[in-house]
Amino acid sequence: MTPFEPIISFAQQMDSLDELAGFKEAFHFPQHDGRDVIYFCGNSLGLQPRNVEAAIQQELESWKTLGVEGYFHGPNPWLYYHDYVTEPLAKLVGAQKQEVTVMNTLTVNLHLLMLSFYKPSGKRYKIMMEAGAFPSDQYAVETLLLHYGYNPGEAIIEVTPRENEKLLRDEDILQAIAEHGEHLALVLFGGINYYTGQLFNMAAITAAAHQVGAIAGFDLAHVTGNVPVQLHDWNVDFAVWCSYKYLNAGPGAIGGLFVHERHAVNTATPRLGGWWGNDEKTRFKMEKGFRPKASAGGWNISTAQVFNTVALKASLELFEKAGIDKLRNKSINLTKYLSFLLQHLANLDFEIITPPEPGRRGAQLCLYFKQQGRVVHDKLTANGIVADYREPGVIRVAPAPLYCSFEDCYRFYEIVKTI
Ligand SMILES: *Cc1c(COP(=O)(O)O)cnc(C)c1O
Repeated sequence: MTPFEPIISFAQQMDSLDELAGFKEAFHFPQHDGRDVIYFCGNSLGLQPRNVEAAIQQELESWKTLGVEGYFHGPNPWLYYHDYVTEPLAKLVGAQKQEVTVMNTLTVNLHLLMLSFYKPSGKRYKIMMEAGAFPSDQYAVETLLLHYGYNPGEAIIEVTPRENEKLLRDEDILQAIAEHGEHLALVLFGGINYYTGQLFNMAAITAAAHQVGAIAGFDLAHVTGNVPVQLHDWNVDFAVWCSYKYLNAGPGAIGGLFVHERHAVNTATPRLGGWWGNDEKTRFKMEKGFRPKASAGGWNISTAQVFNTVALKASLELFEKAGIDKLRNKSINLTKYLSFLLQHLANLDFEIITPPEPGRRGAQLCLYFKQQGRVVHDKLTANGIVADYREPGVIRVAPAPLYCSFEDCYRFYEIVKTI
């Protein structure tokens, strides 16, 4: 590839060579001073795909004209609505179709899957997490432990970066798992840490957890739709994610989950049940006894949440067209270019804390400002750039490859240069 250049014509040339550039047109952009904003916040809430409105309208129409018959008739019978998204989702996370389902939202699903897979016994009851995990995950683990009568302060083992470092070293994580092995019931990591943007080696963490007899679970909120993963081949036990970040399915959209085949097809794997997880053949027979489906769908509890899933279904059509491997390829280049441009900024005192290696990050760079992070963030906002700020001191910049361009990265750089 030609060496990067910090000039607009270079960025525009990169865009003209980008076969995915046209996907930008498939999204609505918020406006600032009569122009599209530069949207670097897809790690928090993805933009609205243009095909969502018609998709919602379609289901409103089915409800309006069919009433309860909409469960069986119309273009997308609701009885199976959650199944329409499992195949495209399975491709994004490297799973079999039967290993994936959608329901509820991320933290609820995390609780439900921890109830299935966290099996404390004797001295094996501890849960290992990365220090500085997303608050919701921390609360979920803390309250789960309290529920079982453990002291979270003692039962949660956090892996922390070395002194004066901000990232976790892979070898330190594996070492910690080995060290605490006999006490570990569960190793639960974010696939990408939300604050640093660090992508963890999930294959190695899973292998290390299994080596000591622990379960390996991941929160893929910042991974799904961003970095392709191979959950099945890596032998991950379970994973959960939300659909409103890189998946662009809108605020509060339905969450997704993965249960490895070896647990999913085993109907004896413990879980909390409800009618939608029950085998369809016996669901309405009114017989005693929950008979779960022999798939991740056996974790469904309630009726398909049609209106929470519509936008995801529409959005996944774009992922199907683009292909996650091509998206990842573009994403690596886009993030590299942004990082290259940022290194040309001498006017501001900040440090990129996200790992420099493309294999250790997704579409997100975290700029740590010792001072002035808020001020810089306010100036970006005033100039039509949407990024977000996370205490302490970090501006997160996420050029999502479906709707961000090389020119966007250049414009961002141009504006930051003037601050
Ligand atoms: C965004 C995010 C969540 C959000 O959880 P919800 O239950 O969907 O509100 C959880 N964990 C991580 C790591 C996140 O980034």
